[in-house]
Amino acid sequence: MGVSFDKVDGSIWLKFDIAPTANPVSATDRAAKLENLGFGRVFTEHMAIVHYNQAQGWHGAKVESRANFPLDPATAVLHYAQEIFEGLKAYKRDDGGINLFRPDANARRFKNSADRMAMAPIPEAVFIEAVEQVVRIDRDWIPGGEGSLYLRPFMIASEIFLGVKPSAEYIFAVIASPVGSYFKRGPAPVSIWVSENYTRAAVGGTGAVKCGGNYAASLRAQAEAIDHGCDQVVFLDALERRYIEELGGMNVFFVFDDGSLSTPPLGTILPGITRDSIIALAREAGTEVREEPYTLAQWRTDAASGKLKEAFACGTAAVISPIGKVCSAHGDFVINGGEAGPVAMGLRKQLVDIQYGRAPDTHGWIRNVG
Ligand SMILES: *Cc1c(COP(=O)(O)O)cnc(C)c1O
Repeated sequence: MGVSFDKVDGSIWLKFDIAPTANPVSATDRAAKLENLGFGRVFTEHMAIVHYNQAQGWHGAKVESRANFPLDPATAVLHYAQEIFEGLKAYKRDDGGINLFRPDANARRFKNSADRMAMAPIPEAVFIEAVEQVVRIDRDWIPGGEGSLYLRPFMIASEIFLGVKPSAEYIFAVIASPVGSYFKRGPAPVSIWVSENYTRAAVGGTGAVKCGGNYAASLRAQAEAIDHGCDQVVFLDALERRYIEELGGMNVFFVFDDGSLSTPPLGTILPGITRDSIIALAREAGTEVREEPYTLAQWRTDAASGKLKEAFACGTAAVISPIGKVCSAHGDFVINGGEAGPVAMGLRKQLVDIQYGRAPDTHGWIRNVG
């Protein structure tokens, strides 16, 4: 469709030039930083970076000291938001080894995102190699226990040009941030606010890709949720404003009294890797999982009648968050007495055990980084 990136397939293999930081953080300082981890405020010492231009394709792959990007004020991403990202985690196993969870799925999704945003697709092998290099060089930053190292691969349009067109140059980078256990005192169910004024994605739009612009457009709705005393926002479909789509950054599941699960179908929602993994685990256990539209009205009715037993949100950051309460301009309702339910918590444990290598990996989901 008029966007071609000739050199992409030529650069199947890139050798990363590794330049460890000249001023490493001392073990004492690192331990202090790892003490009080929230989400996304503490960073490791290195980053991976790869450049793209039309003459050279992907080139200049490096692992180096984490540092500022020098960006000209006319850099395309600053004006037209041609940007995509990913999120995945590295987990420290009890034997000291390191697991990545389904990095190939992130690499594939990143490629799909690049395609939708008319950006140069980075070869999946280069994406995975960049992630692994950062994990290896910053392995001392992976917290033990229930903590993990959150990896953030991203790509920006770096051409200096104010015309509106796909950029001819890109920067791909991977940074890393140690994160603590999401739930400090057991799983606290979240309350969610149904956004009736704002939508997240329409058919033909960018809802199914991980681009920063989706998040920028969701912040007003998220602020509305906070104003109403809720933790998170949940969006309805843009056409009829009846069907549940997903939260700002998490997919959603419903658990029924016959033991079955349902989750909104793919299309305008982000195809979560956690969502996909939960569907696989539940189906293997003999649970019926339907990918089908579900209305807010039906959710309210089923919660009242007892047909709906549990609801939960899922994504890489929190894995599974039970939903305890749903609030909207048309009234609130409580799910499972506002408590975490056994199905959500059981699936959560199953998934987390695989991620930390405490349960066998029968799906080829784990990549051992040594
Ligand atoms: C990243 C993301 C998710 C969750 O995807 P995972 O692969 O499970 O982390 C869900 N919804 C949105 C909008 C997202 O950006």
